[in-house]
Amino acid sequence: MQPKIKLTLGELLVRATTQLVQSPTARLDAEVLIAFVCHLSREQLITLDRSTITDQQQYDLEQLVLRRQQGEPIAYLTGKREFYALELAVNEATLIPRPETELLVELVLEKIPKSNTGLPVTIVDLGTGSGAIALAIAKQRPDCRLIATDNSKAALQVATENAKHHAIKNIEFRHGHWFEILTKRSAHIIVSNPPYVAAGDDHLSRGDVRYEPGTALVAGFDGLDDIKLISKNAKDYLLPGGLLMLEHGAGQGQQVHALLLAAGADHIVCHQDLAGLDRVSTCTFSEK
Ligand code: GLN
Repeated sequence: MQPKIKLTLGELLVRATTQLVQSPTARLDAEVLIAFVCHLSREQLITLDRSTITDQQQYDLEQLVLRRQQGEPIAYLTGKREFYALELAVNEATLIPRPETELLVELVLEKIPKSNTGLPVTIVDLGTGSGAIALAIAKQRPDCRLIATDNSKAALQVATENAKHHAIKNIEFRHGHWFEILTKRSAHIIVSNPPYVAAGDDHLSRGDVRYEPGTALVAGFDGLDDIKLISKNAKDYLLPGGLLMLEHGAGQGQQVHALLLAAGADHIVCHQDLAGLDRVSTCTFSEK
C-alpha cells in the first residue's frame, strides 16, 4: 500500500461526493462510507472535518467508492441497514429492508394490544429475509410469539444473527417453503413481504435491486405467483378470525383484492404507503 497524501475528512467528503456523482444520493453515500470506514457517526464526521484518517482507512474508502461506482448498494457495502429503529445486518442473501415495509409493521402492531394477559398472540412472518418484519414486531411486542420462515438458509442465518445481536428471544426461525413448515390453524396473524416483481420488469435492471436475491424479488410473469399461493392457503393456517397482511407492488392492489376475495377473505383493505401508493392489503378469514 502506497503512503497516501493526507486529506482531511472534509476534503475526503468533497472528493468522494464528486467520484460518486452518478449516484442520485452521492453526498449521502459519501458520508455513510466515510463514517463506516472511520467508525464514526455521520454527525461526528461533520464536526471532525479537519481531522485526517489512516492510510488503511483511506485505502478501504477508495475500494468502497469503486464498488459503489459500479452500482453496489450502500447497505451491502456497509453490511447494515436501519429498519424500524433497529440496525440490521444484511448481505446478498437478503433483500435490503425498505422504508415502505415499515407500514406493514405498523399495521400489525395496531392489531396487537401492548400488554396481553391471555394466551400469547402467534404471528408468522413468511419469507423473513434479514428478519426485519419479525424482529420489529417481536421487539415492540415481547409478549407475542413469532415464527419467522425462509426458504434460504443463508437468509435465515442473517436473521438469526440479527435476533441474537438485539437479544430478541421471542422468535422461532424455521427453514422451508411457505406453508410446508407450519401447523394448520395455529396463527393469529400471518404477515409477509413476498417476492412480487414481474419477471422482465425493467425495474430489475436498475439500482440496488440488481444486487438483491432474485428469489426474494421475482414471482412469475405478473409478479403474483407467491401472493396467489399465500392468499389461497392462509386460511388453513390461521386460527378462525385470523388476519393476513401482505405487502405487494404499487400496481397490484386490485389484483390482490380479487385473489383475497376468491380465497374467502373478509374485510379486505388496501393501505397506501407514504408515497400514496397501494402497498399493503389486509383481510380476515372468519369461520364459515
Ligand atoms: N419493493 C421491492 C422493489 O420494488 C420489491 C420487494 C419484494 O418483491 N418483496 O424493489
